[in-house]
Amino acid sequence: MKNDEIKKLLSDEEKRLINVFTDIDDTCMYYSEKVLSAMQRCGLTEACFNETTGYGYNDLGRDVIEAIYKDIFESEDAIVRNQFVSGSHALSVTLFALLRPGDLLLSISGSPYDTLHEVIGIKENPSSLKSFGINYDQIDLLNNDFDYDRIKEYLTNHEVKVIEIQRSKGYSTRESIIIEKLEKVIKLIKEIDSNIIVMIDNCYCEFVEKVNPIQVGADIVVGSLIKNLGGGLAPNGAYVVGKKELIDLVGERLTLPGEGREVGPTLGVNKQILQGLFFAPSVVASSLKTAVLTAKVMEKLGYKVSPKAEDKRADIVENIEFNSPEKLIKFVQGIQAGSPVDASALPLPWDMPGYTDQVIMAAGCFTQGSSIELSCDGPLREPYIAYMQGGLTYEYGKLGLIKAIEFLTKID
Ligand SMILES: *Cc1c(COP(=O)(O)O)cnc(C)c1O
Repeated sequence: MKNDEIKKLLSDEEKRLINVFTDIDDTCMYYSEKVLSAMQRCGLTEACFNETTGYGYNDLGRDVIEAIYKDIFESEDAIVRNQFVSGSHALSVTLFALLRPGDLLLSISGSPYDTLHEVIGIKENPSSLKSFGINYDQIDLLNNDFDYDRIKEYLTNHEVKVIEIQRSKGYSTRESIIIEKLEKVIKLIKEIDSNIIVMIDNCYCEFVEKVNPIQVGADIVVGSLIKNLGGGLAPNGAYVVGKKELIDLVGERLTLPGEGREVGPTLGVNKQILQGLFFAPSVVASSLKTAVLTAKVMEKLGYKVSPKAEDKRADIVENIEFNSPEKLIKFVQGIQAGSPVDASALPLPWDMPGYTDQVIMAAGCFTQGSSIELSCDGPLREPYIAYMQGGLTYEYGKLGLIKAIEFLTKID
């Protein structure tokens, strides 16, 4: 297909999406107001952009950032740090902070995110939780929902310390978990044993729905700053929000027992973290519109997509099923060619550490590995699904999609 032809297809399909886009705009307005008033209430001043070095004692900006996150999530406490290398690191720190030898960790959303396999010890690693005598078990989802009966039975017969729930689908074909389902399962868990710590991997889900996991009873919630809440500006880092006593434990594990959250130099990133958060509602809305349009257009072109354009969404990820390795590769290469950075690089499938199948990735991003910027990847296995997400602006999202369709249709 030629560029003009694709542009016409996009604008025709876009016209059918007015209602979906209106809902996205409404959520964007809701969170914009929430972010703005949190910044005002928490006393954000220019002095917060100053940096600390060395130990990082008395970092005003860091304290205000954490107060703002606490306010937005309506949580008891928050830790938001550039010392978290990534979302995966924050998830690992949180698990090590909450669990002790002999404790039992249970996942009720099936296999956790790939990078957690060595953390937990599903895949052997001499530094895993398992190596410290921490046990793990999992209950798979059933027809895209929690297996309520098995969960109930399991919890009645086992003493579980932490339940981990991953909302976004990762490299699986299941649906991501919307807040209503989360609410229902947390209620069930708490009815059986209110002491079980419910921990949520919230990556990709922030600012998509109006209610967040803390508001439906989650004890602790973890996410990455090179995804939704970093707004494309945060250079790295992650956040953990939740009960104060749990956030204290996370702080003690991230730095050292005794110093905890009192230390941690921000080295000049406060302004980027804050400005990124300021942009986040709009960046998430742009990513959602890019995903919705992609769903509509790719379905029109005959591909199976998930979620569909009009489906309720929990995250910003769009799956496109190609049923052909060549088509998956071409589409991903097109996304790379439509990127602002490294547009001339040609991505090829490679053996990524920690993954079983070869993976192909397009990431022409300003921040390495940032997947709130338009990015697309997929494992080379049947049914050859591309996982596409991000888009700092809707316009750049559309331009990336146009290039991907150009590449894809060249081989038809
Ligand atoms: C991206 C992601 C992570 C890890 O975040 P990084 O910042 O990339 O390490 C964990 N869980 C889920 C569901 C994710 O999508």
